[in-house]
Amino acid sequence: MREDSKPEETILPDRDYLMDLLKNIISFRTVAPPGDCYQEIVEWLEPIFRDMGFETTKMKMPAEVFAAKCSDSRLVGDRYNLQADLSVGAEKTLVIYAHLDVVPAEGEWDTDPFCAVQKNGRVYGRGVSDCKGSVAALVAALKALLSKKKPKYNLSILLTTDEEVGGYSGLCYLTDLGQVKGDLMLCMDGFSDDVGIGSNGIITWDVMVKGRSAHSGSSFLGVNAVERSILVMERLIDLKKVVQARRSRLPASSPVKSVGIENLMPILNITMINGGVKENIVPDRCVLRGDRRVIPEERMEEAMEEIERALEPLRSEGIDFELKFYPGYPPMSVDPEHAWVNEVREAVERRMGFMPQLSAAQGSLDQAYATEKTGIPTCVYGVGRQLESNIHAPNENVRIADLEGYTKFLIELLQ
Ligand SMILES: [Zn+2]
Repeated sequence: MREDSKPEETILPDRDYLMDLLKNIISFRTVAPPGDCYQEIVEWLEPIFRDMGFETTKMKMPAEVFAAKCSDSRLVGDRYNLQADLSVGAEKTLVIYAHLDVVPAEGEWDTDPFCAVQKNGRVYGRGVSDCKGSVAALVAALKALLSKKKPKYNLSILLTTDEEVGGYSGLCYLTDLGQVKGDLMLCMDGFSDDVGIGSNGIITWDVMVKGRSAHSGSSFLGVNAVERSILVMERLIDLKKVVQARRSRLPASSPVKSVGIENLMPILNITMINGGVKENIVPDRCVLRGDRRVIPEERMEEAMEEIERALEPLRSEGIDFELKFYPGYPPMSVDPEHAWVNEVREAVERRMGFMPQLSAAQGSLDQAYATEKTGIPTCVYGVGRQLESNIHAPNENVRIADLEGYTKFLIELLQ
């Protein structure tokens, strides 16, 4: 080090400001479904970004797009997304994404879920981990950083709707509008244990097995759809064994590893069965439903064709059925060697004090839709711990140290 060069000043977030932000953000009941107060939270956040020099756009989904793309009747009210852009003349633009909706606060809570309560080194409240804590951390990080210097990237921040209902109105809609523009992306809808570099795609399916009704006393005159559905289930269970023997090259998350599964795996489930109207009526239909989780090495179309191929021979055995697929989010994967992945990991190590592992999620993310369509290399990293933050359960919480650590990580990543 030259004598006249001073070591770089460590920029620290204002802890009280961070906690105050979190308290305010948690108080908005952006529960989805119904997701009926997005406008309120967006209008509260917008001036905060504008005061920091961001150009903001409030994007309300047009009613006709909502009607065409969001068929979920539980959703009520306008869909408002917020985009906040800051151009600092940097070479690259970083897109930062989080969703503003939360799951319903059902079950037995020890505290008011819409009041961020500090207790024993943690904050409790619906959304403190998933993922409003990261939104508060982002604002606190930007406030601290921008008072000292320019960030090293141009920033494009997207705060969106309906992630928790697997909806279209948030990040997917913005992707199709062409609003997801940049060179790198950080999805804050994750955990702080691992850096996420992948996720499974999801396809839901149903099979309607057909029969013919008859009086149960002369059931030989009918065709029993419930009994026939067993043959369909047997085929699916055979296929399940084949599918679930496969593994991705991407590592599994820590809790999945703890049960002995080292790599991301594909899944085939039968999760619902509906058939029959009365004990003495031979049922004329039985509907099986389930899902298929698709690893990045598989293709969504192939996964659907594979199920079709498994069931098709039943037709020649006289089983009549109708098979339907409902493809959801695609799988996602990022090259573990990508420089962006290293940059995120190293920022975590420098400011949170540990080198996070890389992992891929068994679940499915709307982020994958954006990553697939735009090709922007993405890391998923957020606040909260997979095994202790009670995400989607009562007493959702985050360690205050993690919240502060995450804020420092963001400062490090951006400076
Ligand atoms: Zn989430």
